[in-house]
Amino acid sequence: MGHSATDLTETRILLYYCFTPIEDPTAVMLWQRALCEQLELKGRILISEHGINGTVGGSLASCKQYVRRTREFPGFKNMEFKWSQGGADDFPRLSVKVRDEIVSFGAPGELKVDENGVVGGGKHLKPEEVNKLVEERGDDVVFFDGRNAMEAEIGKFKNAVVPDVNTTHDFIKELESGKYDWMKDKPVISYCTGGIRCEVLSSLMKNRGFEEVYQIDGGIVRYGEKYGDSGLWEGSLYVFDRRMHMEFSSDAKVLGRCRSCQAETNDFHNCVNDQCREQILLCNDCAADTQKAHCGRPECAEIAEKLESAS
Ligand SMILES: [Zn+2]
Ligand SMILES: [Zn+2]
Repeated sequence: MGHSATDLTETRILLYYCFTPIEDPTAVMLWQRALCEQLELKGRILISEHGINGTVGGSLASCKQYVRRTREFPGFKNMEFKWSQGGADDFPRLSVKVRDEIVSFGAPGELKVDENGVVGGGKHLKPEEVNKLVEERGDDVVFFDGRNAMEAEIGKFKNAVVPDVNTTHDFIKELESGKYDWMKDKPVISYCTGGIRCEVLSSLMKNRGFEEVYQIDGGIVRYGEKYGDSGLWEGSLYVFDRRMHMEFSSDAKVLGRCRSCQAETNDFHNCVNDQCREQILLCNDCAADTQKAHCGRPECAEIAEKLESAS
């Protein structure tokens, strides 16, 4: 099979996931690793007995081959791949691993999957069905943010409930806290960046007595592609690559506020304490000021003071 010149000179990134029973995750991991090495793809792939979740980059020709070959595995036959700009250089290496979960909620024993995907998850809504549900049910509809709380600081659905979670591991404790019991008989639309987290989250919610749970097909990304900033989404989308955030149009509202001075900003920075993993919103002025560029925890504030007086 010949390749066109563009296939070899252009590069792409593929994003994909699929929930399907995998009998032998180790065998799939070894096959995927060999395939990526052969095609010179880099990126990160997780495989569990519940499915696969990956992001890989490389030449356009390699990406096309990868999609074709990966779909040869019966469970992945109908897997959707999202194509985006980028390439192998956007990743430090190739990592293909077997894990208990492809999205880490700390509940591997609870998730059930079959050939059709997650069993007992929320009903999938297309972007236009999201708007229709809100038109029909009005203020009764609750948007429930399935991401980490910091991601929602720069963008979320209007009036969304943002749970107090630092990682997806915090969701179960949060759902069982009683804080959200008031929405158990309401229509709840869970949402996340590309939809994968809500595949799991919506099933955890239903298992805990939330009666009418929905999830958005393709997540915020697909909703934003359809409605931009003229629908029910507001602000920027936090993304897990160098860009850190993206906007669906030039009309995007700036929801983020500088941790130090409250000025409008959508830029996350690392806390000045390099032992601290927290990312914080800072305006350019405060980010450039050592004394202000900390997350607020006492030990980080102290280190900021020390660094400032040493400079
Ligand atoms: Zn500031
Ligand atoms: Zn800190």
